[in-house]
Amino acid sequence: MTSNLKNINRDAKEGFHAAVNEIKDTLRFLAESGCKGFDCSKESLKIMESWGHKEDFLPETLEEIRIDLGDCRRCGLSENRKNIVFGTGDPNARLVFVGEGPGYDEDQKGEPFVGAAGRLLTKIIEAIKYTRERVYICNIIKCRPPKNRNPLPNEIEACSPFLKRQIAAIKPDVICALGTFAAQTLLETKEPISKLKGRFHDYNGIRVLPTYHPAYLLRNPGKKRDVWEDMKKLMKALGD
Ligand code: URA
Repeated sequence: MTSNLKNINRDAKEGFHAAVNEIKDTLRFLAESGCKGFDCSKESLKIMESWGHKEDFLPETLEEIRIDLGDCRRCGLSENRKNIVFGTGDPNARLVFVGEGPGYDEDQKGEPFVGAAGRLLTKIIEAIKYTRERVYICNIIKCRPPKNRNPLPNEIEACSPFLKRQIAAIKPDVICALGTFAAQTLLETKEPISKLKGRFHDYNGIRVLPTYHPAYLLRNPGKKRDVWEDMKKLMKALGD
């Protein structure tokens, strides 16, 4: 791409994000001024449809999402983190693994799944004939909770929109949700992982296969067989 074209593309994206921010500010202003709602009649929706579809807009890149995240202070986890753990791997991956949140090693390195659970995840990825470089690995939350406690609802609420934008940018064929928090957050359910695991669910048209978290497998090695059964389903879905 010539630098001129690149500049046009960048300007268009910046223009789009500025417009979205302006809309957000306007809606906030209207809400604060007492506005209770809008006309969402068929006629109005038809008029809006004629303005164009979401796909007509240039999609965001992972780099742009990372820039928007910045030195995030959207929740209290920012106070004790060393590094934001954004995600690593192929930006065009067909397969995305979503975990819970960074632990000590991940916080130190700024990379997801690099500790003991991460080494097991790497083995699982290699067992299905992929590599860490060919998949994308990320988490529901991007900063380490103190003493590795579970993420709080307000932390998930602040962070998960970025994960959702990352998934929209990557457009994978399949997501493997690792453990309770990943599965419940993506699928917006409170069902336990034992009920969700082992079958495909839908997330915005993307197939989601929940399975046990590698840290759980380290504590319960007897469950490795279950995860292997899930991985076979994953391979089949990817046509590998
Ligand atoms: N556990 C997770 O859920 N994510 C990581 O990145 C590491 C451990």
